[in-house]
Amino acid sequence: MIVWICTDMEGLAGIDHWDQCYHPDDHAPEYLYGRDQLTEDANAAIEGCFDAGVTEVRILDGHGRNRNKGFTEALDERATKVWIASRNPLRWEGLDDSVQAVVMIGQHAMAGTINGFLDHTQSPKDLCCFRINGEEAGEMSQMALYAGGFGVSLVYVSGDEALCSEAARIFPKVSSTPTKQGTGWATCDLYPRNEVRSNIRRDIKKALLSSDWNTPWKLTLPIEVSVEFAWSGKVDGFARIPGVQRNHARAVSWKIDDLRNIFDWPNPGWHPLA
Ligand SMILES: [Zn+2]
Repeated sequence: MIVWICTDMEGLAGIDHWDQCYHPDDHAPEYLYGRDQLTEDANAAIEGCFDAGVTEVRILDGHGRNRNKGFTEALDERATKVWIASRNPLRWEGLDDSVQAVVMIGQHAMAGTINGFLDHTQSPKDLCCFRINGEEAGEMSQMALYAGGFGVSLVYVSGDEALCSEAARIFPKVSSTPTKQGTGWATCDLYPRNEVRSNIRRDIKKALLSSDWNTPWKLTLPIEVSVEFAWSGKVDGFARIPGVQRNHARAVSWKIDDLRNIFDWPNPGWHPLA
């Protein structure tokens, strides 16, 4: 069995401050601390996969600010690092129909979640609401849909309590491990890191060994994506791309006929259905 893991930082055990994820200086102690937390949660997940008898683990550093340099040298060498295979349209390296299960580590809740620690969808503070066929969705749903395009299931996620509730609500068959309780957008109460990491290892193994996880998320095509931003200036550029409807000064929508295009943003090099 091949497992493909996407990591993020906001939902990691041990992360309780914006600077640990986003400090612009690569050498800032806060950011170096964040990279250590990322690597340790990733290693717990990788161990859980191999405990379950997986033959290959592919792992993507999905936190944009890291520019694919987030993992430290302490990352478990049994895992293969992957990155972006192409950008217009966006394709993730190593995630295709050779994979059986997708896992997300350190994930955050969708934009607009009460007590979701650093909740956002793609663009913190700019993007207010992302919808798939009219239903509010976050990055977890986007990944589940992308994987569904290959017939692959999202099986497991780790993140704060808000992310775990989002998983339970939208994907009842997806297992989750909570890492902390958000108390506001930028504040949270951490759970003990080592306990969380042994839970991640145990819960992934259990999820992969259960018989109930094979439920790829598929929707009938075409599907409608609609996005509301915080200010109209964000929308002006999108609104000029063929296929994009402007529904409001701050809102646009478009249609896609391939589930894998759920991460694509209309631009001169890629446009949605006309
Ligand atoms: Zn992130």
